[in-house]
Amino acid sequence: MNIVVASSEVVPFAKTGGLADVCGALPQQLSSLGHQVSVFLPGYRSVVYGDFDLYEIGVTVEIPLGNKVVEGKLLRTTLPESAVQVYVVAQDEYFDREALYGEKGNDYSDNCERFVFFSRSVLEAVRKLDLKPDIIHANDWQTGLIPALLKTEYSSNPLYENIASLITIHNLAYQGVFPADQMSLTGLDWKHFNQAEMEYYNQLNLLKTGIVFADAINTVSPTYAKEIQTAEQGCGLEGVLVERSDCLSGILNGIDTAVWNPETDTLIPANFSADNWPQGKAACKQHLQKLFGLEEDANKPLIGIVGRLASQKGWSMILQVMKQWLDQRDVQWVVLGTGDPDYHTILTGLYQTHPHKLGLRLGFSNELAHQIEAGSDMFLMPSQYEPCGLNQMYSMAYGTVPIVRKTGGLADTIIDADDSHEGGVSNELGNELANGFVFEDFATPSLETAISRAVDVYCHNKEKWRALVAAGMRRDWSWAASASEYQQLYTQTVAKKRSR
Ligand code: ADP
Repeated sequence: MNIVVASSEVVPFAKTGGLADVCGALPQQLSSLGHQVSVFLPGYRSVVYGDFDLYEIGVTVEIPLGNKVVEGKLLRTTLPESAVQVYVVAQDEYFDREALYGEKGNDYSDNCERFVFFSRSVLEAVRKLDLKPDIIHANDWQTGLIPALLKTEYSSNPLYENIASLITIHNLAYQGVFPADQMSLTGLDWKHFNQAEMEYYNQLNLLKTGIVFADAINTVSPTYAKEIQTAEQGCGLEGVLVERSDCLSGILNGIDTAVWNPETDTLIPANFSADNWPQGKAACKQHLQKLFGLEEDANKPLIGIVGRLASQKGWSMILQVMKQWLDQRDVQWVVLGTGDPDYHTILTGLYQTHPHKLGLRLGFSNELAHQIEAGSDMFLMPSQYEPCGLNQMYSMAYGTVPIVRKTGGLADTIIDADDSHEGGVSNELGNELANGFVFEDFATPSLETAISRAVDVYCHNKEKWRALVAAGMRRDWSWAASASEYQQLYTQTVAKKRSR
């Protein structure tokens, strides 16, 4: 099959979250399954002027935007060690900026224009490069216009009429909502600005647009696919999602095992495997304790957290537990993250009063993320919602036991230590062994109980702890299974499109 993936983030070129990991790893897997895959990405400063080998191919696109025409230039590269072609859409006025979406907590005011430009560029490039895709896989609101363009403006063009579209929702909370007047930037007829299509309470909503017009919709875990059809987690789009539920499915993300593998990882101080982890993991823990100025004691439970400092991730609860525990409990914490300035302030305060119990790095560091996954005993993810979550899978691959709230992909990947019984228990993904600690209520006491249970097993029941570690490390978290599910979804979607 011939597949085009359009995304605003792709590892290793540009990343702010899990979307980038998915769009870097999935295309490689699909390619190794024998498909021809091309990936499109905006030409951010870090991409065009970074350390990547980009080649000029002499192809430009001319995109109508309102009453002007904006030119973009295509540059080509490949995903590392693969045959996957990556096309970078360079347009310095839009993308030669410090960040991807905004600075100092404010979105760029022309984000609608930037991503309408990118979405239209992908479709124009498909023609200019003669790619002839069977399907275009859009991701999140930034490319939500692509399915709509295929169903409207491009639908009677023989080059496009058979191209199916899939949109993947990586996080429903980010919808690309803009003032109504920006509808004119999309170039689509105002007749589509209605509640059943592109309008959301008198504003333009680009994710809704993608959901309404795509031939298929998926999200990144089976549980999240169900949750987003409820008022509680539907972020206002539950109605549209229920309406399209016959085309909506959930496919769990995998992890890139070329990058996240404790046996080969060059960013961690010692390598280890599922068959022989205690020594290597202990060396990683000691290194982490030293690096963050914590007491170098192999037996002290060490809880790691890596991620965006956003309320979604349960920070209000984490901080309450941390405040108490830093005073009262002999437990170490290492936090790597960046985000909400209020959380920065509170964490900095806690660090200043407890520098030997709390290791803190407010920023983004891939190297430290690997070292924390490898060196921690436990990894905390008490998310309010979690479409899939990658960190809990990285943790398990590195023998670090996750403590999570039962939501989205966390519910699909983690089985509580007390839920397991002979032969394993069943969840969405079949029979599995216990591999972590799970709590249900989004409430501080529930989180605290879960952490207490984990610390208790860690300190007093080594055998059970080793079983939890082993269950996490032995399970295959790679993209192989997910990629074949995507392959199936593409095949079905293309067949359905052609049968119309
Ligand atoms: P989300 O996409 O909601 O941010 P995920 O768990 O799906 O959450 O993916 C987050 C990804 O971003 C992981 O690969 C994680 O390691 C990485 N990450 C998040 N914050 C940081 C940070 N401060 N430093 C390094 N990596 C980070």
